Amino acid sequence: MSEALKIYEVGPRDGLQNEASLISTPDKMLLLDGLIAAGLRHIELTSFVHPKAVPQMADADQLMRAAIDKQVPARFVGLVFNERGYDRAIAAGCRSMAFGVSVSETFSQKNTHRTTEEGIRTTRALLERAKRDGVWTRVYIMAAWVCPFEGPMSPLQAIATAEKVWEMGTDELAIADTIGHAHPIEVGRLMEELGRRLGMDRLAVHLHDTQAIGLANATTALQAGVRIFDTSVGGLGGCPFAPGAAGNLATEDLVYLAFKMGFGTGVDFEALWQIVYQLESMVGRRAGGRIRAWWDSVCGAEPAVAFG
Ligand code: MG
Repeated sequence: MSEALKIYEVGPRDGLQNEASLISTPDKMLLLDGLIAAGLRHIELTSFVHPKAVPQMADADQLMRAAIDKQVPARFVGLVFNERGYDRAIAAGCRSMAFGVSVSETFSQKNTHRTTEEGIRTTRALLERAKRDGVWTRVYIMAAWVCPFEGPMSPLQAIATAEKVWEMGTDELAIADTIGHAHPIEVGRLMEELGRRLGMDRLAVHLHDTQAIGLANATTALQAGVRIFDTSVGGLGGCPFAPGAAGNLATEDLVYLAFKMGFGTGVDFEALWQIVYQLESMVGRRAGGRIRAWWDSVCGAEPAVAFG
């Protein structure tokens, strides 16, 4: 029996937003072509945020339009935090949006200049608009385990925030270890509890690999029943407003873990390496997840040998 995982690729958004050098729109389109060719079908493409806040996302409108024009069977998601962002996303033709609420008050203030309660109110209004517009939605429950400023979060607080958002109605809820400081036992426990309360079908986990335990966290989430995972090709990423947030869990690491454990992903592992090597020239430094060293030892610098 082979079960399938859904990989939600956040590379173009969460992956690139922290890069110091600006990546051009044509380069982002190359990255997108690679992701589609590798079989990724759920892609968080950009963020409709003020260009001054996140300069890397200044081409959000243009990028979303160009992606939609491709008419490929993939979902391109735009991250939106307010009404203005929503208007821009709609104008760019965006039909899938992600919103976010922080469990931690301090992170909410630093990231979006509002309290958690204000974040919930705004998200409710955005979800209502999305329902009217027939837009697919996901909501991030940010800093669900650890806040970069407040430290460990109470699981009860995380559950209460997740339940509040869930009751508003969203297609997907992504529980986020925003800075990658959670550990496997607490990841498994919280996901199991949320699965019990909300059902596991539409729960995702968003992991970072800051402390080299991203894969361990993914494993306990998998054991808890989670089947939707956020990853970033090459392990790029971080959050400009969360000190200490390092790269996202690498897509290639998770795809390989799934392969080893008998889960399907629909993602071509070899094709991912074309993207990783291409990314390196875009960002001007080494990329690749934990599995990079092994892959290089098997294949040399080029991903040329058969994978099996
Ligand atoms: Mg993130």
